Amino acid sequence: MPGSHIRLGIDLGGTKTEIAALDPQGRELLRRRVATPAGDYRATIATVAALVRDAERGLGTTGTVGIGTPGSISRASGLLRGSNSVCLNGQAIRRDLEAALAREVRIANDANCFALSEAVDGAAQGAAVVFGVILGTGVGGGLVVHGRVIEGRNAIAGEWGHNPLPWPEAAERPGPRCYCGLTGCIETWLSGPAVERECREATGAALAAPAVVARAAAGDADCEAALVRYEERLARALAHVVNIVDPDAIVLGGGMSNVERLYANVPGLWGRWVFSDRVDTRLLRNVHGDSSGVRGAALLWDEG
Ligand SMILES: [Zn+2]
Repeated sequence: MPGSHIRLGIDLGGTKTEIAALDPQGRELLRRRVATPAGDYRATIATVAALVRDAERGLGTTGTVGIGTPGSISRASGLLRGSNSVCLNGQAIRRDLEAALAREVRIANDANCFALSEAVDGAAQGAAVVFGVILGTGVGGGLVVHGRVIEGRNAIAGEWGHNPLPWPEAAERPGPRCYCGLTGCIETWLSGPAVERECREATGAALAAPAVVARAAAGDADCEAALVRYEERLARALAHVVNIVDPDAIVLGGGMSNVERLYANVPGLWGRWVFSDRVDTRLLRNVHGDSSGVRGAALLWDEG
């Protein structure tokens, strides 16, 4: 249900911080992006507060503030944890932002914001159960049921990127070390940097993920093999989700979601691991692209 007020959404990432304002009909009124002051927590809080104040000055009104960021706020301590922007970890980010902005602030995991945005009026609009996946520098997931983010008892629902790659082959054990302290996490196989590592190990060439995709399309056998392995691993990782949650739709976001062949190839593979005679789950490319983070953060105030 659309709200009756201006909703400000902020996507607080490791390298950039973006703000957007949505009117009551969900139309975007304003958008601005600045560099995140990397490694400086106080400056990060000040940056977010300044973006909100500037936006409200420009709009001539105040709004609600929702923020999406990697990691999640511990229910036990109230402190952020699990962020790859490590200067935010262990900080009372909600309390500090609420003090800086003199109002209540809603904060959610960035993958949850992505899933919410795509479930409300994006690729999975109308689907009851939506699993949103970010395949970017990091890998994360978010679960939305009937238009609401499922946070979970420990506020980690959908945190699928740090589960191990399921049904591993011998050569995939124990898997690469992950920043989280474990090895073989899904993130270490399905992130953009993982594709680059696979290709580097096979060819010695340092190629960015889009170049790997372009070379595969041009007939490069090593790059093609790296993408075939990527698709098979993504199929396994998503089959795991289907077996537990069985969502109506899975929406992909992040840089790797731009790889068009995933949408044709992965659903052709995942049936091998899904415990069902057929798989009707839809695998969808996001509609809102890079806007999903700010839109989903703004929509946190539609949840009642
Ligand atoms: Zn991990």
